[in-house]
Amino acid sequence: MALIVQKYGGTSVGDAERIKSVARRITAAKEKGNQVVVVVSAMGDTTDNLVTMAHQLNPQPDAREMDALLATGEVVSSTLMTMALEAMGHKAISLNGIQAGIRTDTAHSRARITQVDPKRILEELERDFIVVVAGFQGVSDGMDVTTLGRGGSDTTAVALAISLKARRCEIYTDVEGVYTTDPNLIPEAKKLEEIGYEEMLELASYGAKVMHSRAVELAQLYGMPILVASSFSENPGTLIHGGIPMEIRNKVRGIAYDLDVAKVTVIGVPDKPGIAASIFEPLSTAGISVDTIVQNASINNLADLSFTVTRSDLDKAMRLIEPVARLIGAQKCVGDSSLAKVSIVGTGMQNTPGYAAKMFKAFYQEGVNIQLITTSEIRITCIITEKQVKKAVDALHRAFVMEKEA
Ligand code: ASP
Ligand code: MG
Repeated sequence: MALIVQKYGGTSVGDAERIKSVARRITAAKEKGNQVVVVVSAMGDTTDNLVTMAHQLNPQPDAREMDALLATGEVVSSTLMTMALEAMGHKAISLNGIQAGIRTDTAHSRARITQVDPKRILEELERDFIVVVAGFQGVSDGMDVTTLGRGGSDTTAVALAISLKARRCEIYTDVEGVYTTDPNLIPEAKKLEEIGYEEMLELASYGAKVMHSRAVELAQLYGMPILVASSFSENPGTLIHGGIPMEIRNKVRGIAYDLDVAKVTVIGVPDKPGIAASIFEPLSTAGISVDTIVQNASINNLADLSFTVTRSDLDKAMRLIEPVARLIGAQKCVGDSSLAKVSIVGTGMQNTPGYAAKMFKAFYQEGVNIQLITTSEIRITCIITEKQVKKAVDALHRAFVMEKEA
């Protein structure tokens, strides 16, 4: 007998038919002799609809009330799921975040789990009940309802799997797993059988929005394997874990892209100490996070300095930088909001030469112009124009992913 934690996302519990179909999957796991804990998201667009309604009544709803409101979405789905399980002849009980022992800090709308006290869950499992927990929520020390941030039910599921010492955490969603790149952009994208935590985090932060990144970080910290699979099929899905075998490590795992990129270039910056600090300090004070930074070698003591921000931060960044540029005697400041980031990701790139050259060659052959380049240990990223994203991702996918299979 094993203890299983399964999480079902909003689309998977979107209506009565979907709830019934998921309930059948849950009972199948139970009938194999397992103890089953289920975490559910709110049905379909419930959370979005609640947010909209709140703003119709108050342009700035109180954070505490907002959390109490949004947490109801998951309470609805957990109770309905429990009723469906009971109708199928199973003993089941729903627990909200408080009853499930999810303790958090007080940061409403983005609370962090501080502790899980699984006493009640364990008691119900002991009585042979299927336990259905409302995801995305917890309770602060002051007994106020908190929520974990949008998409937070994944984090609830991983936290419970860790505290209940489950063998793995199963996340069921409306996609078949994690792909080598976005299948909506590149139809040849392949589902991965497995992926490492770091790789998953790089892919997620660069646009592959399969799972909440915080959930992956938590799983990595405790070495909890996560299976991501579809609740609409019986296909095996993708296992996210830490023990990727040596031979499979030596590869590019996937190609990520992100369209939310804008660039600021300060032209003709005097090449002397203190200049970079004077440019980036006002940005950091304003809470603008800067991603890629590149400064070219100076000619006649003048350099160009470029950096990227998200598109929504571009205007604000330009307004902050223009006066600084004048003050330090730079020539001018230009902004460009039609850029994108394209990355190759894979643990195999660590200490292996040749990946960058191959990436640049693939771009060259397709006529894709590279504006900026950055790297991490397991990622190489190029900033290019948004118009060439599909061409660029396709070229990289063919060079690094399809080629491996030949
Ligand atoms: N219902 C919440 C949201 O949509 C939490 C979740 O789905 O995980 O963000
Ligand atoms: Mg959701």
